[in-house]
Amino acid sequence: MSIFDVRHQPRAHRLLQRALASERMPHAYLFAGPEGVGREMLACRLAQRLLCASPVDQPAPADLRETLGVERVGEACGTCPDCRLVLADTHPDLTVIHRMLAKQHPDSEVRKKKAQSLSIEVIRHFMIGRVALRPMHGRAKIFIIREAERLSDAAENCLLKTLEEPPQDTFIILISSAMDRMLPTTRSRCQQVLFGSLPVAFIAERLAELRPATNSLEVAYLAQHANGSLGRALECADDGLFALATAWAQRLGKLASQPPGFSATELVEPFLADARQLAKGVAERDPEMSDLDASRAGLQRLLSVLAGWYREAMRQATGLPSDASQAELDGLVREIAAGWDPGAMVRALRQLNDTDLEVGRNANIDLAAAAMFIRLAGVFRRRSARLV
Ligand SMILES: [Zn+2]
Repeated sequence: MSIFDVRHQPRAHRLLQRALASERMPHAYLFAGPEGVGREMLACRLAQRLLCASPVDQPAPADLRETLGVERVGEACGTCPDCRLVLADTHPDLTVIHRMLAKQHPDSEVRKKKAQSLSIEVIRHFMIGRVALRPMHGRAKIFIIREAERLSDAAENCLLKTLEEPPQDTFIILISSAMDRMLPTTRSRCQQVLFGSLPVAFIAERLAELRPATNSLEVAYLAQHANGSLGRALECADDGLFALATAWAQRLGKLASQPPGFSATELVEPFLADARQLAKGVAERDPEMSDLDASRAGLQRLLSVLAGWYREAMRQATGLPSDASQAELDGLVREIAAGWDPGAMVRALRQLNDTDLEVGRNANIDLAAAAMFIRLAGVFRRRSARLV
């Protein structure tokens, strides 16, 4: 196991390796970037490197030598008692702080509350109380804070004091996918490490390894629609998103061609059913989320599936070259694209975007969906009427 198992994040590796080599590690880091691109994995590997009793000198990975500017790097040994404890998630000097710890708080009042934000009670009990203690194994104490953008105001202010003057042997790594939601003073007290999205080919490769039951067409689709996040691709695979997506390619084809007897409103029920299915996946992964937020998240995921097809159709309608390996996926959008100018796709995308915004503003979800299909039907009907 190596710190370089975290792939396609050369900037992050360069910053961390320079700090490790200088032996003047900043005491607070902010790992910022999209979810599912390796931020927490790198935080854990860095923690292991800092806790390891006997780091070993090793050749730097060939593809990173130029970026890192060194031939050799120090890596955690993987076999000392500290490494073993880190790998077993039981090292007493490594603490992962997250909002769900509220459910393990000694105060029953804290346990009862919905843990939607990272509360001051969690920060005080699981972190601040331990910062002042000596490391159990002598080398360092490391706190990894997940979803730092969800720190409550009180929790963030409380944390700020520690970030200002962390004890010599304490390292804090905040992980955030929305650092603009954090206080500027918190951000400025941390060394920022920016993570980028992952290449589609890498996501496809890892997805095929991690979900071997997924067929190659599904892998290609999910990798392309994961916004550069392996985590997102895995979630979508677990939610059965591809099966939903292919059914929607056919329905959108019907909506574009509007065969006799077809009514756009017949799509409302399947749309809401699929949105509910996706919401179920969201809620299972985050049981603290309110039902309304989960419904919205499910619906927004489904809207992005529809938007994906319209974007593909726009690509076909504008004659942009298609990737040969995607021929089967192209076939799915042929009916949506057939005979339509890119302007229709732009208008369709605008309708989806408006619906997304409406849903975010507490609109009635069922009504918003019905209105969307009526308006989408209008986008395509206008053009047919003009041609007649
Ligand atoms: Zn070790």
